[in-house]
Amino acid sequence: MDSHKGMYGGDEPLHGTNPVQGVEFCSISEKMFSLETLLKITGDTEFADLLERIAYNALPAQASDDFSSRQYFQAANQIELSDRLENSFEAQNHKGIDFVYGVLTGYPCCTTNMHQSWPKYVQNLFYSTADAGVAALLYAPSEVDIKVADNVDLTITETTGFPFEDNVNFSFALSKSATFPFHLRIPAWIKNPIVKVNGQIVKGRLDRQIFIINRTWNNGDEVTITLPMHIITSKWHQGAVSIERGPLVYSLKLEGNEKVKNRNDGFGEFTEISTNEDWNFNLLKSELNQLPSSARIIKKPWDGSYPWNLEKAPIEIRIKATKFPEWKLVGGAPIFPESTDSIGKQNSRRLELDEITLIPYGCTTLRITEFPLINL
Ligand SMILES: [Zn+2]
Repeated sequence: MDSHKGMYGGDEPLHGTNPVQGVEFCSISEKMFSLETLLKITGDTEFADLLERIAYNALPAQASDDFSSRQYFQAANQIELSDRLENSFEAQNHKGIDFVYGVLTGYPCCTTNMHQSWPKYVQNLFYSTADAGVAALLYAPSEVDIKVADNVDLTITETTGFPFEDNVNFSFALSKSATFPFHLRIPAWIKNPIVKVNGQIVKGRLDRQIFIINRTWNNGDEVTITLPMHIITSKWHQGAVSIERGPLVYSLKLEGNEKVKNRNDGFGEFTEISTNEDWNFNLLKSELNQLPSSARIIKKPWDGSYPWNLEKAPIEIRIKATKFPEWKLVGGAPIFPESTDSIGKQNSRRLELDEITLIPYGCTTLRITEFPLINL
C-alpha cells in the first residue's frame, strides 16, 4: 500500500492511472470505512495517513456542498461534466452521465453510501489505548469524552484549522488529576513536528509515527502540536506532475457554469458543469526546481464554516505556468496529447508565462490536478 497515492483509479474495473478516468463515490466511502476498521484493529498510522488523504481531498470534491447530489465518478482532471462524455467504463450503460451531479445519475448506490463518510470519520478521531491513555490519530475540530487512567473522566476539546493550517490544539478537562499517556499521530509527510504542553516544548517518545507524552495531567492542560507543511511535487500519469502541501493536493481553480438538464429517463434531473476559463497549462521544470520560493502561498480569512468550495477555499498556491495549445478537450475530456513535451522541443516558440491559481482539490468541482511538465 502506498499511503501517498490516495484513491486507486477504478471506474468499476481498475483502469490504471489516467487522470480523466474516474473513481466511484462508493469506493471512497467504503475504502474510508475499511481504513477506519484497519486503524482501530492495528493502530498502524499508515492507514491513518491514507484515510486522511482521501477524507481531505477526494471526498469533499465528489458531493455538492449540501450533500444533496453527487458524481458517480470523479476524475483528477475534469473540465466538463456533461452527458456527452465517453471516457468512463460505464459510459454506454449509463448513457454518458457518470460525471454530472445528480441523485440517480450513474447508479443510485453512491447516493445511499455517500453520507456515511464524514460521520464515520468523526467517530474515528480518538481512541482509547491499551495503556489506559488516549490517542488522537486523525486531526479535525472536535470534542470527545473518554475514560483514562483508573476510570477518570476526560473531555478533550480539539480546535484547529487543519488540514489548511498546521496547528492543532487540545484542551483537557479532567474530573481529577491523572497519570496517563497521550498518543499523537505524526503524519508521514511531516519532517519536524513541534509538541508543546502548556506552551513548553516537550520531548516525547516517537514509536512508529506515534508521539507519546506520558505524565500527570491536570484539569485545564493544553497540548499543541504543530505540523509544518511544505510544498512538494509528485509524479503521475505520463510523467505529469501535481503540487501538494501537507495533507492536501492542489488543483487549478476554475469557475464553472451550471446547467440543469432532464432527459425524462430513469436517471432523473442532473446538473452539467463547464467552464470558459483556460485550463490547458504546463508546469515548468525550472519553476518546480526552485520550490518553495517560486510559489506564493496565499492564506484567506476563514471563519471555520464549510470550506470545500471555490469561494471559501482557505488557501491558494500561485505558480508560473505556460499554455499548452495542443492539449484540447476530446469529447469533453482533457485527455493528454500523446507527447506532453512537444513544447520543450520547439525552442523557436516564444513562451508566455501565466501565473495560475491552485486551490485544495477538495474545494474544486472542475480542475486540473495532474499537469504536463515541460523541460524549461
Ligand atoms: Zn456507487
